[in-house]
Amino acid sequence: MHDIVLERLIVGPFSVNCYLLGCSKSQKMAVIDPGGEIDTIWQKIQRIGYSFEYIINTHGHPDHTAGNMELKQKSQAKILAHPDDVAMMTNKENLLSSILFEAKPSPPPDQLITEGQVITLGDISLKVLHTPGHSPGGICLLSGDIIFTGDTLFADGIGRTDFPGGNYTQLISSIKNKLYTLDDQLRILPGHGEESTLGKEKRNNPFVRAD
Ligand SMILES: [Zn+2]
Ligand SMILES: [Zn+2]
Repeated sequence: MHDIVLERLIVGPFSVNCYLLGCSKSQKMAVIDPGGEIDTIWQKIQRIGYSFEYIINTHGHPDHTAGNMELKQKSQAKILAHPDDVAMMTNKENLLSSILFEAKPSPPPDQLITEGQVITLGDISLKVLHTPGHSPGGICLLSGDIIFTGDTLFADGIGRTDFPGGNYTQLISSIKNKLYTLDDQLRILPGHGEESTLGKEKRNNPFVRAD
């Protein structure tokens, strides 16, 4: 792995893991899932001091996208998300937004990201894995020995499938076919809670184990 800057901030009422990822060589950075507490995230971005290129959403739920608008207004960063969650994240009448928050829809993504696409951040590349189930447009981001799993896979857990667009069978299939086929050593950085490794989850995850 190249020289990377990686920081986690836990933000918002649902304790979302917001990750700041930077390449120290090119001095470019991205923020994954700015779910809230934008002042804190913004201070951190400025302290790192790199060129802020991308706001990447692992999926369109408001606890992960609620800060998109404010962060975009403060910067030139482009919003990247999967097409299948765009309607959800930009909809003012979004059921979840109105239940969970005073509705804060996201601006539409500047760039759509789909299966197999690679997001480049200087020396860092993030490969997009489409992992629907928790939401239709859920993605994981694979970068070297790290994988950001959003709300698809947690340490000892999996994403809920009872929100609109959720699908349990699809989620299990995403985890088994897209994630559990990857290397055991991969470090999992999920959308909520503590980190894990893929090997640990394949063996011990109470909801889905490797066959
Ligand atoms: Zn979610
Ligand atoms: Zn979440």
